[in-house]
Amino acid sequence: MDKFADLEPSSVFRFFAEISSIPRGSGNMGAISQYVLDFARERGYAARKDEFSNVVVFCPASPGMEDRPTVMLQGHLDMVCEKSADSRHDFKKDPLDLRQMDDCIYAASTTLGADDGIAVAYALAIMDDRSIVHPPLELVFTADEEVGMVGATGLDTSDLKAKYLLNLDSEREGVFLSSSAGGLRAFLSVPVKYTKKSGEKYSILVSGFQGGHSGGEIDKYRGNANLIMGRLLHFLSVNGVGLDIYSLQGGLMINAIPRDAACRALLATDEDAAKLEKLIPEFEKTIKNEYKATDKNIMIYCDRKGRDEKPVLHKKMQERLIFLLNTLPDGVIRMSQEEATRGLVETSLNMGIMRLTEKSFEIEAALRSSVSTAKYALAEKLRYLVETIGGSYEESGDYPAWEYREDSKIIPFISGLYTEMSGRAAEVSGVHMGVECGIFYEKMPDLDIVSFGPDISGAHTPSERMSIPSAKRTWDLLLRVLKEIK
Ligand SMILES: [Zn+2]
Repeated sequence: MDKFADLEPSSVFRFFAEISSIPRGSGNMGAISQYVLDFARERGYAARKDEFSNVVVFCPASPGMEDRPTVMLQGHLDMVCEKSADSRHDFKKDPLDLRQMDDCIYAASTTLGADDGIAVAYALAIMDDRSIVHPPLELVFTADEEVGMVGATGLDTSDLKAKYLLNLDSEREGVFLSSSAGGLRAFLSVPVKYTKKSGEKYSILVSGFQGGHSGGEIDKYRGNANLIMGRLLHFLSVNGVGLDIYSLQGGLMINAIPRDAACRALLATDEDAAKLEKLIPEFEKTIKNEYKATDKNIMIYCDRKGRDEKPVLHKKMQERLIFLLNTLPDGVIRMSQEEATRGLVETSLNMGIMRLTEKSFEIEAALRSSVSTAKYALAEKLRYLVETIGGSYEESGDYPAWEYREDSKIIPFISGLYTEMSGRAAEVSGVHMGVECGIFYEKMPDLDIVSFGPDISGAHTPSERMSIPSAKRTWDLLLRVLKEIK
């Protein structure tokens, strides 16, 4: 693409532009993986593609570098397809419309796909230039990372010999990831029964919480609307308000901290209704005070809806679910105490969704931990709790943590090089989210892993942009690492 001809490093931007013309949204991997495979074979490298559309390319060492340890360079082929509301872009066939503004590139109205197209472009540029000095390389292009790390999970690593893995899927220059969390989804279900009653209908709303990502923002200690609702229902019950629930729900996604929850109930007597109307503002005041630093727009209120007859929860069942909402662990369970990952969440839980159906009361929760045994201990606690009140527990989507390695050689090496080259302090850090490194860590236990990359902002949104000078500095760092690694 001519308009990027003057950008440096020119080969990286040339290949970035080229792959930006190949549709490569998650689930649409055919064309991009074939392109990479052909690219490698045309240049004489051994390469393979598997049924997941992962591609692995084997590049022999440059002359004189044969005795160096094998290095794996890894990034994912797919990108998140998001566009602005007015965009007519068709991610199935249209090339991205790349643009430059100041020292950034972006795509008009869509995600840019620098997450993780920049990794692909770096690897293509290395394959294309025989003058680059490097040890034996295994270039690993994984498919469908953004939809559950499907490619990496399915990848056969039995023919890979790498000692080091350089994962190029991080978005802050100068930050070198050394660990990531594993996770799983827990599904709790408590059977319920209903009985017909009549009374004054009320809807009770807990709303206006800030929410956020259950991995990246769990350490902000924002309120969980579902659990605040549980606390409110308990508060009403201990204050003698007789209420019969017939509807209860909150939260939209398992990975998002719930912002709103709603309950509908019948109140048998006018006295109960009067108490309810008096107690709710009191409760709202308490919560607003407790969360004044994190959630500024909280509203907790009730609406009278008129008399009606409804099937409501059996008293015993209702008590069980209020018990569950008041005893579930939530939020940050433990902060990491390792020197290198201090300040990072080690173990957390987000009770993302609750819903009452005809047959059961259901809860969906996302568990994360950088320590596998801590993740399973937390899962076991949920199982124990829900089974004790007659419910059932299931889990899915279990993915492994990448645990911090005290004896890593690559982390001090690359962060030292970065400081030397940029004059800036490097930051070694973990992340309380899942990354593909966890899967490689599990499959190849001896791998010494680091994840890094250039500055990318707004990933997964149409405002995604990548810094050009940062992409250049990251390229220079990568070449130094390849040249000097031992
Ligand atoms: Zn990514």
